[in-house]
Amino acid sequence: MSIQINKLKCVGCGKCVEACPGNLIKKDTDGKAFIKHVKDCWGCTSCLKECRFEAINFFLGADVGGKGSTLSFRQKGSINTWTVTSPDGTVKTLEVNRQESNKY
Ligand code: SF4
Ligand code: SF4
Repeated sequence: MSIQINKLKCVGCGKCVEACPGNLIKKDTDGKAFIKHVKDCWGCTSCLKECRFEAINFFLGADVGGKGSTLSFRQKGSINTWTVTSPDGTVKTLEVNRQESNKY
């Protein structure tokens, strides 16, 4: 499991750097975020949830049944959308209303 940061989408806001509890994300000389030691990432997804530019994807490894799928996150208003994209192109989404999330 690890993240991948898309430098083309990254605007260098630094939110993911602040969010990572393991201090794993740094900024490059060009101001873009990168993860230096991908194997140290334990998949808390904090960085995904902080990025407002959808620049971070998370790889779901075979150990959690991901088979190479990627997880992405989008926040619009109070709706959080989690999307899993499989290698064969299959897309599944889960929407969570943050205002109602304490109900479950
Ligand atoms: S939160 Fe997203 S846009 Fe901001 S530095 Fe990290 S990857 Fe780049
Ligand atoms: S998923 Fe968690 S541990 Fe991994 S880089 Fe992002 S914030 Fe750090």
